[in-house]
Amino acid sequence: MKMLLGHEWVDREETIDVRDPFDDSLIDTVPAADHDDVETALATAFEARDTARKMTTYERAQVLYRTGQIIAGDIEGFATVIAREGSKTIREARGEARRCVNTLTIAAEEAKRLQGETIPFDSFPGGEERRGYYERVPIGVVLAITPFNDPLNLVAHKLGPAIAGGNSVILKPATVTPLSGLKLTEAFMQAGLPPGVLQCITGYGAVLGDALVEDPRVRMVSFTGGVEAGERIMSRIGLKKVGMELGSNSPVIVWKDADLDWAVETCVSGAFWAAGQNCIGVQRIYIHRDVYDRFRDGFVNRTKAYRTGNKLDESTDMGPMINEGEAKRVERWVKEAVEKGARLLAGGTRDGALVPPTVLEDVPEDATIHFEEVFGPTVNLYPVDDLDEAIDRANSANYGLHAAGFSNDVTVCHRLAAGLDCGSVILNDSTDYRLDSMPFGGVKNSGLGREGLKFSLQEMTEPKVVCWYLPGL
Ligand code: NAP
Repeated sequence: MKMLLGHEWVDREETIDVRDPFDDSLIDTVPAADHDDVETALATAFEARDTARKMTTYERAQVLYRTGQIIAGDIEGFATVIAREGSKTIREARGEARRCVNTLTIAAEEAKRLQGETIPFDSFPGGEERRGYYERVPIGVVLAITPFNDPLNLVAHKLGPAIAGGNSVILKPATVTPLSGLKLTEAFMQAGLPPGVLQCITGYGAVLGDALVEDPRVRMVSFTGGVEAGERIMSRIGLKKVGMELGSNSPVIVWKDADLDWAVETCVSGAFWAAGQNCIGVQRIYIHRDVYDRFRDGFVNRTKAYRTGNKLDESTDMGPMINEGEAKRVERWVKEAVEKGARLLAGGTRDGALVPPTVLEDVPEDATIHFEEVFGPTVNLYPVDDLDEAIDRANSANYGLHAAGFSNDVTVCHRLAAGLDCGSVILNDSTDYRLDSMPFGGVKNSGLGREGLKFSLQEMTEPKVVCWYLPGL
């Protein structure tokens, strides 16, 4: 595919192969942008700020609705691209494409709810004979940098609010999965977005990243990805707004009175969705000792029934990791845990990029797979005796995106809600639950700021005060 740079779709002599991680087959190529292309993107976006700002709220909302409808009319096409270039099975990919329709629809709705307020200037001495208000105005150029694991919907979570807020936007999608973002960009243009307001530049983050994030014409960097790239960006960004949606190591607490069958069912899905490459994927499960054996046996049985393999096969539950290097890393972390005393209950071996769903118990706290984000299809089980101990251990990671708890005791649920240190506490469902309209983001190394359309729209606009001095009023 070509990239959308300036006002046109362009090729470059140097290209990047986009391959299916299941069989390494070539799907397509995309241009490898260079620094001249970065300059074109920045100059175009800077100039297009005016066009974007002058679009009426109605026009912005209509473009967003129409883009959503284009996707709704081609769920299979979008899902196939997601499933081929990434790790998701076709069923998971359809889910993402449908969610993307919701995301864009919510963005359109939120565009119309973007409001200011009147300001009671006379509430303090010095404000007499003054009237005024504030409204929310666009910030200018938004740079959206996105990861590989939700290559469509996480892009929509940035483009949607950026456009709803009247900004121009440059998208830099993940190099391994650029096609979904390019296809979404095409849909926006088809829906009537004026030229220049959106561009999609493809190429390596390590090559293009600094020049994009450092440029003063960019007013906000909205980043989703890993801590390493996030920290690099923070060190280069200068005086700009920033959104950082980073990783996690999500804990779940299963209490003795929980519905265990449901907890097993939803935690298995939450652990192995997208082959565990999910920022809110279940990684550590703390289970009350009284029900530990029952939960563990149920979990392992359900895990062993998982079908892995070809992502395009309707019966496949889980596909490969994004590449063999990542699969080798996960294999290494499992091996390290086992060498330190962990017991392997399921999975653990690797075939190319395919890591089967893996379950461990007795994982020592100095094992990397305990304290780091695994971002792969593995889960650790731990027995616990006391709720405070469970909460402390859940909070021990240096991340805090989602945490979950299962209990039918309302007091236990309230203690979990109050005690778990994270962006969202999900009760009686796994950490892998997100509604696209809710505030989404984390504490500690999980990031800064919140997405979820209403919230990202606040980040991508700013208040502007209008104040009249009206003598004699
Ligand atoms: P990544 O390696 O950090 O890459 C994310 C994006 O950043 C890619 O587009 C990448 O480009 C770009 N990038 C890399 N280095 C850069 C630099 N120096 N300057 C500017 N951009 C740079 O992450 P990933 O492997 O794609 O995604 C996995 C991570 O994302 C996990 O940690 C996961 O938890 C996190 N994540 C968080 C959320 C959330 O909402 N909190 C959601 C999904 C994923 P290239 O592809 O060209 O390297």
